Amino acid sequence: MPTIKQADVIQSVADALQYISYYHSPDFIQAMASAYEREEGPAAKDAIKQILVNSRMCAEGHRPICQDTGIVTVFCKVGMNVRWEASMTLEAMINEGVRRAYALPENKLRASIVADPAFGRKNTRDNTPAVIHTELVPGDALEISVAAKGGGSENKAFLSMLNPSDSIVDCILEAVPEMGAGWCPPGMLGIGIGGTAEKAMVLAKESLMDPIDITEIRARGPQNDIERLRLEIMDKVNALGIGAQGLGGLTTVLDVKIRDYPTHAASLPIAVIPNCAATRHAHFVLDGSGPAPLDPPDLELWPKLTFSATPDAIRVNLDTLTKAEVAAWQPGARLLLSGKMLTGRDAAHKRICQLLDEGKPLPPGLDFTNRVIYYVGPVDPIPGEAVGPAGPTTATRMDKFTETMLQKAGLIAMVGKAERGPEAIEAIRKHKAAYLMAVGGAAYLVSKAIRSSRVIAFADLGMEAVYEFEVKDMPVTVAVDSTGTSVHDTGPREWQAKIGKIPVREVAV
Ligand code: SF4
Repeated sequence: MPTIKQADVIQSVADALQYISYYHSPDFIQAMASAYEREEGPAAKDAIKQILVNSRMCAEGHRPICQDTGIVTVFCKVGMNVRWEASMTLEAMINEGVRRAYALPENKLRASIVADPAFGRKNTRDNTPAVIHTELVPGDALEISVAAKGGGSENKAFLSMLNPSDSIVDCILEAVPEMGAGWCPPGMLGIGIGGTAEKAMVLAKESLMDPIDITEIRARGPQNDIERLRLEIMDKVNALGIGAQGLGGLTTVLDVKIRDYPTHAASLPIAVIPNCAATRHAHFVLDGSGPAPLDPPDLELWPKLTFSATPDAIRVNLDTLTKAEVAAWQPGARLLLSGKMLTGRDAAHKRICQLLDEGKPLPPGLDFTNRVIYYVGPVDPIPGEAVGPAGPTTATRMDKFTETMLQKAGLIAMVGKAERGPEAIEAIRKHKAAYLMAVGGAAYLVSKAIRSSRVIAFADLGMEAVYEFEVKDMPVTVAVDSTGTSVHDTGPREWQAKIGKIPVREVAV
């Protein structure tokens, strides 16, 4: 009868979280590389290239794929024959593994978890607690699947309690465009069908732990209704033309995973959880023989791509930028930003707008007049870095603050990821400002453009503080121009129409 040791569980969970912070799994790399080969939308192709280059840099440099190093989700299958050499509960062991992984000095990960979510929202500082699902199964081992799930993609999860006669495909095709680009496509859709409301959500999440195998299913032909449904949903979602980062293109999803469970005769619960460009999960088995070994992937798996700005990119000096220059930027134009920019995300915006609305001064040294803000919460640097991985966060969450930031704070442009909503677009149009997007899921690559960083205000907010970054040739795309034209609106519409007319090729890598 195998004995599972507490120290092995803790060590294995910590090792797995470090591993997935910088290694995409081989199936994901292959699927993303195929999408790159197949992509015909220039902006989407460029975004996928950045994701792949970033991925390889992270694998080589052992730094996080994304600045959002995720909320830890764990599925445990406990063999009913195992014995324990442990004083902690399984949950406590897993959380200790999380604590150690996120604090590892050589590759410190961002702590993103807040306690008291409805009120205080205080960062727990060590990324605990994990969300843990435990099941007793026959057997002699402990099987653990560990995932680090980004907030941007988790925020787009949804549940529909359909009538049994409703169409699952129609439900998903209506919902996916509403998800926007905040989940950093291309990625995967995890779908749970049946059970109860909470069971469907867990099925959807667990399905995302399965490897990408849609190309093999397509090649050999679907062998059951679920496989047929996966292919139908994947093809129809990709035909929406949303594309990488919502810029319009051929690939929105790399795979569609489905798990199902019997349900009530009156019910058809459908849960959908997207997984993003930073899809991260690892699996291991403990059988009492020590911590689980995790072999590094072969670096030859990554396509040999390098990123360089397109020759038509416009160089922008942030230190002398004027409203007139911003107003002249065209939608879809590629810019290379150099100079100083401020940062800020949810918590900082809330404080700034509260001060401005109350007619109070901003903290000393914080002046947004004619400045550009970057929506980011960076990873702490390690020696030799100005800042750790620092990709954009979802701009849509800052929409309600945009009018105040443009009108009262004097901001002239913003950098983030994903689309802007009508409220923000109207403010941008009214103030002749602009919204620029960087690629979500390319955080380490983006951070290489940041030459220095210092905290300007709200240091108590940790990664949500306002920093001043000095950047050199940071690549961004004009996503909403001063007239309010949004590439997240025009791009998918253009590509949906094109896909209706062009045959979509499958590329094997
Ligand atoms: S890739 Fe996008 S959604 Fe995923 S963790 Fe990073 S920022 Fe969040």
